Amino acid sequence: MRKALLAAGLVGLVLWGGLPLYRHRRFGVPIVKGPGVTDVRRLSDFSPGLKGTPADTWVFVLQGREPGGKALIMGNTHSNEPEGMLAALIVIENAVVENGTLYVIPFFNNSGSRNTRAGDGYPLYFDVATDWGTRRFRYGNRDASPLDQWPDPDVYIHFPDRQLLSYIDVRNTNRTWPGRADGPLMERVTFGAMELLRKEGVDVAVDVHGAETMFPVTNCIVAPEKSVKIATLASLTVKAMEGFENHVEPSPAGFRGLSHREIGDYAETMPFLLEAPIPFLDQPTGPKTVRFLLDGKDPFLLSLSKKKKLFVPYDESGWPLEKRVGQNLSVTLEIFRQFTKKTAARPIVVRDVPRYADVVKAGVGHFLADPSRAAAGGVIVN
Ligand SMILES: [Zn+2]
Repeated sequence: MRKALLAAGLVGLVLWGGLPLYRHRRFGVPIVKGPGVTDVRRLSDFSPGLKGTPADTWVFVLQGREPGGKALIMGNTHSNEPEGMLAALIVIENAVVENGTLYVIPFFNNSGSRNTRAGDGYPLYFDVATDWGTRRFRYGNRDASPLDQWPDPDVYIHFPDRQLLSYIDVRNTNRTWPGRADGPLMERVTFGAMELLRKEGVDVAVDVHGAETMFPVTNCIVAPEKSVKIATLASLTVKAMEGFENHVEPSPAGFRGLSHREIGDYAETMPFLLEAPIPFLDQPTGPKTVRFLLDGKDPFLLSLSKKKKLFVPYDESGWPLEKRVGQNLSVTLEIFRQFTKKTAARPIVVRDVPRYADVVKAGVGHFLADPSRAAAGGVIVN
């Protein structure tokens, strides 16, 4: 009797703890095909080793009315940095391309977006208020789920440079570039993006992130030698015209596996990595609540800011999602504009994407579409 009760208690605990994780892993996020979307593809079209795996993901294509240059935008390379995914989603649901073609991958590490960090008390979901209700999203983790890629090695030996990286980076899609067709699952993800860039002849790649306020590489554009001129012009222009800081950080040549390094070295493409400050990711903060994820307000960071321990200005207004998504969008648009000015034969001209001031004023949700009102076949569930 005692054994039976203990066994029943154990099953109860497993269900109580496991069911929310099971539901989170299967929760579908609807994405509305905006007016500019002309095709929807799978990353496995470029990396067949992804076919049928949980790491395969959607690639939205927005082909312009006129020919021009091509650009790739990636969100959720790290699925605990939603300012990248939301910027990508706003492009998919609003952008109209006049010249050139956009490829947008909103859930780049799709497996990571179905993972969590229970030990840090991460929420499983967050809701964004819109003009018509709320949109719910999975809050994921930096790394792919061990359910999808396992076991981890003791040390991750980067391909092809053989640099020794932390074991966890074998599941980090910002360390597994340029990847291999038959490598570990996350290498097949980055290999798919490399193949897309090479086969489609993509000029510009923008990998959109968020970073801690206590980490020096934050609130910036990371660019290797070949992209640094355009990054600098974009940085100076958003400061002068839109009034926010976004300095340029050089991509270190000796640190391998990063998108801003390997994309430039293994394709003709110019890579850029955007970092918007996300206080939620800092270590010495209060509880990791959804509210904190959205408004970026924390009393501990405020006192650290007074002691000059943060790398960004920080006051009672925190660092809200609107600012983070808004600056990611403005910098992306400015990179396209500067590229077009320098490369007149391959213009990338995009309209109807809100800029920093628009998102700060109207909120992120204002630019998210209502999936229940989309045309038949107009919603893709990720
Ligand atoms: Zn990141």
